[in-house]
Amino acid sequence: MPENTEKFGGLWVIIEQRHGKVVKVSLELLGEARALADTARSNVTAFLIGEDVAAIAEELIWQGADRVIIAEHTICRYYRTEVYTDIICAQAKKDKPEIILFGATCMGRDLAPRVSARLKTGCMSDCTKLAIDSGHLVATKPFFGRDLMTDIVCPVKRPQIATIRPGVIELTDPNRSRKGETLSYDIRLREDDIKVKVAGILNERSNNLPLEQAEKVVAGGMGVGSKEGFEMLKELAGLLGAELGATNLPVDEGWVSEEFKIGQTGKTIRPKLYIGCGVSGAIQHSAGMIGSEFIVAINKDPNADIFKLADYGILGDVNEVIPAIIKELRRQKGLA
Ligand SMILES: Cc1cc2nc3c(=O)[nH]c(=O)nc-3n(C[C@H](O)[C@H](O)[C@H](O)COP(=O)(O)OP(=O)(O)OC[C@H]3O[C@@H](n4cnc5c(N)ncnc54)[C@H](O)[C@@H]3O)c2cc1C
Repeated sequence: MPENTEKFGGLWVIIEQRHGKVVKVSLELLGEARALADTARSNVTAFLIGEDVAAIAEELIWQGADRVIIAEHTICRYYRTEVYTDIICAQAKKDKPEIILFGATCMGRDLAPRVSARLKTGCMSDCTKLAIDSGHLVATKPFFGRDLMTDIVCPVKRPQIATIRPGVIELTDPNRSRKGETLSYDIRLREDDIKVKVAGILNERSNNLPLEQAEKVVAGGMGVGSKEGFEMLKELAGLLGAELGATNLPVDEGWVSEEFKIGQTGKTIRPKLYIGCGVSGAIQHSAGMIGSEFIVAINKDPNADIFKLADYGILGDVNEVIPAIIKELRRQKGLA
């Protein structure tokens, strides 16, 4: 039996926002939390942290929150583990939520285990489905790519904490007539108390959009061959209005940074168009891109697994095919 279950109640969704715009996975989670709360006759709290973010609260209520806790301060301008952990845990110790949900984004994957450890509870990470059974949150998680699925529960400790992959829960339509309350969280932290200082933010993305939200993705694998090869891919992505992605091997090689990684240990994407360049189609990579609407593969091996997933395959060397596509796109745009 869970310890002191009666003291805990309600579902929290930790909202991720960038420059005052809610990251899509947070909206997906609010819809899911609403459905779970309706089944369990519970309530949904959106926990919003940032600088000048109060204007977002209404959107969170439309998406399913009964109340929004707003923690606004210049100290929260950029995500910092220490600051966000302190704020969430201080309120969680008071409110005792039964469930806390995070997106399995870079932020959520960093923050959820910290919050779990601070609250002395478990963390069900990288889940793809949620349900409530006999009072417990049941979180489903894929193993070995997608070959095995397992259900995880946190039977004894509360709150139950989970991170959920972006794009696996369908976004519900906002209900603009929903009403809810907003509460202000009083931030007492001072900049001098925080060990980590943010010197600046470097943006590597061409369209400044999280990879998970991109409509078009040009992904490179080992077949791209070098860091310079990825510069060629960046040019193609720029011409197509796409974001750059990668398998894990180019990340390990240092050709691109971790934030571009797609797959089991990277990001889950669902773009309208995915172009895999020199990507073999290993199950750990395809676990993160299988939801793409239209898949194009460029590979010189006719037996590459990626061709089994592709709607359109180009058998050829990326060093010949991609420059030819870039040349044609530049010609069409009058840039040649
Ligand atoms: C626990 C675990 C977790 C993992 N998580 C991830 C993950 O999250 N994401 C991920 O991507 N991988 C992950 N992997 C690694 C995964 O198993 C594969 O090793 C990896 O995805 C392969 O990357 P790749 O397709 O770029 O490279 P390779 O498998 O080396 O394939 C390169 C492809 O490029 C083609 N090629 C070579 N040269 C050219 C050329 N000039 N022109 C055209 N085609 C060419 C080849 O024919 C080949 O098909 C994980 C592995 C493990 C064990």
